[in-house]
Amino acid sequence: MSTRARIQIAIALGALGLAWPILDILGRNAEFFIARGSTREEIVQVLVMLAALVPILASLPASLPGRLGRGLGLVWLGVLSIALSYLVVRQLAVPSAGFAALALGVGLLVAIDRFEPVQAVFRLLAWSPVALGAYFLFATPSGALVLDRGVPVSGTVAPQATPPVVMLVFDELPLASLIDPAGNLRADRYPNFAQLAADGIWYRNAMTTQQQTEHSVPAIVTGVNPERTLNPFAGQYPGSLFTALSRVYGMQVAETMTQMCPVTVCPLTTDRGGPLLDDLSVVAGHVLAPPDLSESLPPIDRNWGNFGAATEDFNAIESFNDARRNGDPRRTLEEVATAIRAADPARPAFFFAHALLPHNPWQYLPTGQRYPIDDERLPGSEKTGWGDNAWLSAQALQRHLLQVQYVDRALGDILEALADNGMYEQALVIVVSDHGIALRPNIEHWRRIEADTVGAVASVPLIVKLPRGEQAGTIDDRRALTVDIVPTVAEVLEFGLPWEIDGASLLGPDPKRSETTTTGPDSQATYGVDGKEKLAVAAANAIWFPTGDPYELLPEDAPNLLGEPASSLGSVRDDVIVRLDRPNWYTNVDPSSDVLPTRVTGTVRGLAASEDALLAVLVNDRIAAIVRSFHDRGRSGFQAMIPPETLGSGRNSVEVVAFEA
Ligand SMILES: [Zn+2]
Repeated sequence: MSTRARIQIAIALGALGLAWPILDILGRNAEFFIARGSTREEIVQVLVMLAALVPILASLPASLPGRLGRGLGLVWLGVLSIALSYLVVRQLAVPSAGFAALALGVGLLVAIDRFEPVQAVFRLLAWSPVALGAYFLFATPSGALVLDRGVPVSGTVAPQATPPVVMLVFDELPLASLIDPAGNLRADRYPNFAQLAADGIWYRNAMTTQQQTEHSVPAIVTGVNPERTLNPFAGQYPGSLFTALSRVYGMQVAETMTQMCPVTVCPLTTDRGGPLLDDLSVVAGHVLAPPDLSESLPPIDRNWGNFGAATEDFNAIESFNDARRNGDPRRTLEEVATAIRAADPARPAFFFAHALLPHNPWQYLPTGQRYPIDDERLPGSEKTGWGDNAWLSAQALQRHLLQVQYVDRALGDILEALADNGMYEQALVIVVSDHGIALRPNIEHWRRIEADTVGAVASVPLIVKLPRGEQAGTIDDRRALTVDIVPTVAEVLEFGLPWEIDGASLLGPDPKRSETTTTGPDSQATYGVDGKEKLAVAAANAIWFPTGDPYELLPEDAPNLLGEPASSLGSVRDDVIVRLDRPNWYTNVDPSSDVLPTRVTGTVRGLAASEDALLAVLVNDRIAAIVRSFHDRGRSGFQAMIPPETLGSGRNSVEVVAFEA
């Protein structure tokens, strides 16, 4: 074999065995480049490096002169033959791939060396780098980026109807927080949820099929019940509303914990790119290395940004904390309203938001103002559950309800934006929560799905307002599921779904499900369809909040003296000393400021460890709250929420006294 032949064959083997598989995967995944904001020049550099530089480098050992050089060159061709064979063998998934590749590679080398026609074919294949470059540029999504032709998204649909679509996914909002024990929406507390229900269909018996956010949100946007092992990233699901609608709809998507909208559809606003060569080496490792080696590499389909660094599995808690650190959860909903106001009503638009609201920590008032909270654990909580102090879990419920009222207000702003922009009448509006929360004593985990937490954790609000107000004011008590949302959107927009789903359109005939299963990370519950569970939770909530007003909370056996003058307290106890944690918060109050000190806390002295006392919070000499003191984690103290309207501008007198009922 001539030196020229060896060089040509090495180029062919290097291009096909080393460069081609990497170019192929990079070409098909434009996300790799989009996520890092790569310029066209950078993509071309990668292309040249792989299609030209790699084959040229591969040819160098084959060009060595002399007898020894020829021998080494032949050995090198054997190495390249084995590498190419390994790729083929891996593709065919034959057993003992290593041996098979070795045998095939040696066989290939012998064939090239001995048989003239085989050699001729491989010499001709020295032109394959040109073919690779052309393939990458003209036949792949990444090539489309270079040529500026727009990246095609797979699985798009052509809807026959294109109303504005607004989908709001709240987090940790049980339906029971919105209803009275008879199952009616508390319209006076949540006027905007009530308005939407009056204009749409309220699926009162709706359940989430998934208890964890990272599975529940994907179920809502794909209609698929995810396998437990799936992470909430677009690449792990066959399709979603984001991919399906992307060809026709403009996307206004705010995901906080998930990345279900692929970056080809929803460009990242933050720079996620890491060192390009690092990530290329990870891709190369996955493509070229044996499976047992590549398993130790970071996965490449998960995070198309800096995936060289993405060595950890998706961690919901971390992701949640990141989301919280990176932003004020109120902004998510405010941005939806802003985007709607800025939208051109004539252009189809999909407004999607998953807001970490009314998710704890509870710190928002119905007005949207914030009250300061310490990072301390909630009094009465034990890890992620509740101890046996019913009063303290009722106080947590109070703060949750205040935050739910804020969510109602934010929903109202979004509905108002739709109306102001003339889009409300035509819009398809869907409001749902990914799951609820159990706020009652003696519970090991407030989110864990068990037979006795179904009403609090699995029962969620689901309201669908159809275009043109069709079926306005309907209450539908079928067993609706979160996976039914996608097929419902498909029916309203009149398109066929290009992937298999687990749900059924809510506008079709009732599938008459006889039981439902909600799945969590380490538990699940299967239950019937009468929907009594949420009513039981609403009834338990109503013991503390009979009219649903968060400020009407009173300890058991305490007289209702709320709003009365301080003088109406019976006998004040001198033996109990109460100290405010932050008395200076009340020396100069601005009622219109974003932060309002309406959570009053302090320490209590003079009580035995087994004893607690009734306390009255006196704001400007009127009783603003009545609470019970607690002993929690070695501290005797109290906490109280006072209505914001009890605070005036400037200096306020805030005093807490113990009294006998
Ligand atoms: Zn959640």
